[in-house]
Amino acid sequence: MSTLVTPTELRQHHYCPRVVFFARCTPVKRRETVLMTHGRERHQQEGERERRRTLSRYDLTEGERRYDVRLTSERLGLNGELDLLIVAGEQAYPVEFKHSQRPPDPGHKLQLCAYGLLVEDALGLHCPHGYWHSSRTRQTHLIPFDTRLRNRTLAAIRTIRDFIEAERCPPPTAQVNKCLECELRNFCGDTL
Ligand code: SF4
Repeated sequence: MSTLVTPTELRQHHYCPRVVFFARCTPVKRRETVLMTHGRERHQQEGERERRRTLSRYDLTEGERRYDVRLTSERLGLNGELDLLIVAGEQAYPVEFKHSQRPPDPGHKLQLCAYGLLVEDALGLHCPHGYWHSSRTRQTHLIPFDTRLRNRTLAAIRTIRDFIEAERCPPPTAQVNKCLECELRNFCGDTL
């Protein structure tokens, strides 16, 4: 079986490639911080609230909601579980919930696009865009899956698979301020 990466790992890789390397290629386990625990709990609550809402926030008049959709694509080298997939005819829209004050960053867009690619490959539906919803600001952002984002997503999958298969430690993040509060700092001797 070939190496599969997850959409979440694409987001983590964008934050810092070494976070994915430590998780996949070493016995080092990342400690869950209070912030992570809080975010995970809010994430679950948001999924439960979503079941009571209409589709109006997505500007869709109809669609079938599918929750916790687990998909695999050997061809893309991807597997993962979507929070929510809205299916309307031959089109489908992945939805990701985040407990964040900030708008979606490029890592979030890569993650969402990877879900879109997975849906297209595994279910044969077309995903023109996805939705990223903040449970904190209550804002829902539409993320178009244009050619540029699709290509960047595919390139990131290749990069991650390559270093996992070669068990090669990638360079650290260029933003050393991230290292100051990183729980993996003790394992990255060359960053600070
Ligand atoms: S210490 Fe810095 S380079 Fe190392 S994993 Fe953390 S953020 Fe990445």
